[in-house]
Amino acid sequence: MKKYLVLLFTFVVCFLSFSNIIVFVYHRFDDERYPTTNTWTSELELHINLVKKLGYKIWTLKDLEEYVYGKKEEENAVIFTIDDGYKTVYTNAFPIFKKYNIPFSVFLYFKGVGKSKEYLTWEMVKEMSEWGVVFGHHSYSHDKFPSVYKNMNKEEFIKYFESDLKKGLDIWYKHMGTSLKYYAYPYGYYNKEMIEVLKKNGFKLAFIQLSGPYNKEISPFEIPREALLEDWATESHVRYVLSREALITDNIPFYWKNEKLYVKARIKVPQNYENPVVYIREKGIVKSYIKNGILYAGPFVLSNEYNSLMISVRGENKKEYVKYYLIIK
Ligand SMILES: [Zn+2]
Repeated sequence: MKKYLVLLFTFVVCFLSFSNIIVFVYHRFDDERYPTTNTWTSELELHINLVKKLGYKIWTLKDLEEYVYGKKEEENAVIFTIDDGYKTVYTNAFPIFKKYNIPFSVFLYFKGVGKSKEYLTWEMVKEMSEWGVVFGHHSYSHDKFPSVYKNMNKEEFIKYFESDLKKGLDIWYKHMGTSLKYYAYPYGYYNKEMIEVLKKNGFKLAFIQLSGPYNKEISPFEIPREALLEDWATESHVRYVLSREALITDNIPFYWKNEKLYVKARIKVPQNYENPVVYIREKGIVKSYIKNGILYAGPFVLSNEYNSLMISVRGENKKEYVKYYLIIK
């Protein structure tokens, strides 16, 4: 009996680690004024051709929703998303996506869209929607919401975030007559109160701005994305992000004590691992050690309000398993 349980467990773990769903995120296209958020359409074309050549399915957000909620089988899949809704999405990227017949999604910043000449017009949004582009919500204000929370109590914050969400939904409804159920957090900054508000308002998926593959063990309200811009738009970087698997811990792998951050990760996937790398954005790669199968690092004094923690290990198959976590002071 025990043997069968071990076999079953091995099967489940193999199954969990098989999935490779990678969400790409872009912002502007062929816009040299903003190098840090720009991707050249020649690079976009390279990404499309590469994922096709490597045999990835190209999913829409609807495919991902169906997969997350158990209505679709697992596949090696890539999803193309674009944040903010700048005009270059329509003028520069849309023709490329049309040329290859590749579905994609745009998360709209509602204070900008249809109002400023930098952003899409509602005519452009309608035309892309008719072609099949799936749209999502990227807030009305583009606030750093967890920072806003610092000056409010919980009730006030929930009200504030919900009213921002509804402002965007109302504008969308006025122009498009439908609702939205996918959200991308501005700057990728979020907290559990925001997740609750999104769930309450019928949202099904929400996306962050930290990289790594998506795996069903990760919350559908904390889906990682790979930003393919600047030095990260190259073929070798895209091949690298596609080669990684999601690291899964069975706890939140960090805690605060006396205003210092400690890392303590009980890693579930991969089951056996070596060569751990712990990286904190503000500190770089930090010293870590494994004791009784648990990965430790710290304590760290951090000065920035927002940081990210990355944990990466090598599994038995020498593959890299990785997960990034948002750290808010
Ligand atoms: Zn944005």
